[in-house]
Amino acid sequence: MMPSTRLANLIDGRLQAPVDNRWLDIHEPATGVVFAHCPDSTAADVDAAVKSAQKAAPGWASMPSEERARLINRLADLVEARLEEFAALESRDSGKPVALARRLDIPRAVSNLRFFAAAIIAWDSESHAMESGAINYTLRRPLGVVGCISPWNLPLYLFTWKIAPALASGNTVVAKPSEITPCTAALLGELSIEAGFPPGVLNIVQGRGPTTGQAIVEHPAIKAVSFTGSTRTGASIAATAAPQFKKVSLELGGKNPAIVFADADLSDQNLDTIVRSGFANQGEICLCGSRLLVQRSIYDSFRERYLARVKALRVGDPEEASSDLGALVSREHFDKVMGCIAQARDEGGQILIGGHALSPTGRCAEGWFIAPTVIDGLPNETATNQQEIFGPVVTLIPFEDEADAVAIANGTGYGLAASLWTTDLSRAHRMGAQLDFGIVWINCWLLRDLRTPFGGTKQSGVGREGGAEALRFFTEPRNICIRY
Ligand code: NAD
Repeated sequence: MMPSTRLANLIDGRLQAPVDNRWLDIHEPATGVVFAHCPDSTAADVDAAVKSAQKAAPGWASMPSEERARLINRLADLVEARLEEFAALESRDSGKPVALARRLDIPRAVSNLRFFAAAIIAWDSESHAMESGAINYTLRRPLGVVGCISPWNLPLYLFTWKIAPALASGNTVVAKPSEITPCTAALLGELSIEAGFPPGVLNIVQGRGPTTGQAIVEHPAIKAVSFTGSTRTGASIAATAAPQFKKVSLELGGKNPAIVFADADLSDQNLDTIVRSGFANQGEICLCGSRLLVQRSIYDSFRERYLARVKALRVGDPEEASSDLGALVSREHFDKVMGCIAQARDEGGQILIGGHALSPTGRCAEGWFIAPTVIDGLPNETATNQQEIFGPVVTLIPFEDEADAVAIANGTGYGLAASLWTTDLSRAHRMGAQLDFGIVWINCWLLRDLRTPFGGTKQSGVGREGGAEALRFFTEPRNICIRY
């Protein structure tokens, strides 16, 4: 992709400019400079995409699943062949270190495609025999045209996490990546043409949430919406979809605890994982542990070791292999996170490290960088410990015992992911059942098996993605009952 390029929509198998010919500036977070323009699509573009998807739906649904899987695998191969280009683009667009995009984002996007291509071939269905002389089987049919809307923090990773199961299970798709990080989805769209997807099977309409995204959710021909993003937008999507009885899967925000017991194995490797769980991708991962709960008996010694490691994190040009953290995704998000740090100070929090913006020298002097920040001394009830910050900010909270840890961990409106560090196996199982989260990691973090259910409780969302859960979401089960 050339600098300052104009991205296109993918509609009906062709790359197209938006009907109104309006464009959004796309900034490089590391420099603040505009480097691309993204379609500012309207309801007319969405409608054209839906019409094309409707036309393509019967053919795609009746195509043998092996053939759909072959096309999806071909797309995965094309992405993998251009991994370096995708990683550089993802880093430039989002501010994340290119090393992270190369190691995590793009390989995971490839895995998402391959996983669901394989899963649809292996997928089976239930049958229930009745003693009275009848047999039931469950026929799962694709829904038709579905909408997939994804956020900016893991752009291609989450985009493919949605479109892969939707396509594999026989739906045609109208998808919208975040308008803040649209580049890799645009490139994926181009490759889908090369892969040989029939026109209209995958449509990518770029644009803003309240216009393009809203038009996808409102469109009466879109049967289901799979959404990942903020809790506020999730609530708005749920309200728009409800009167049409549209299926929704909502993967939303989090305020995740990492819980460290005195009996934890705090080897260097585990401590590194605990640090990573707070600061990977500048803390802009929905699963990051932003509240670090530490048992009081080891609080001081743990804090000292932890801070030394956080201090060693290198923040800098995302293009540099040595950078552990890059820039925050946008000026607006940078301002939000800085505002959260100011609020923590106002609430009486003690900034142990960081708490300020950074200006790496050279080309990144005007970028949106924030120093890794650790805050102490704030009760769990404070706004800092209740609201999602989504930046490189971790608060330390002491706890006394297991019951105290569970109460603090569960004591927010969110329930996405918890991580627990202990060598006591009974405690691990006990707490695994008591922690009100969609995921509980024990002595690990972000260890993902794509077959497992993924999602959150409370304000972290409704529904589960991953494995058979995603295939179930994108299909309608029908009970066929035969008497014999
Ligand atoms: P966001 O809600 O602002 O936007 C997400 C997507 O929704 C974007 O594509 C946006 O254009 C679109 N959108 C916005 N308003 C819309 C509307 N009214 N109708 C339809 N679409 C609309 O979220 P964000 O700032 O891009 O992402 C960060 C948030 O995502 C954080 O809260 C984070 O926790 C959450 N997140 C959750 C998960 C998860 O799996 N639970 C994963 C990653 C990120």
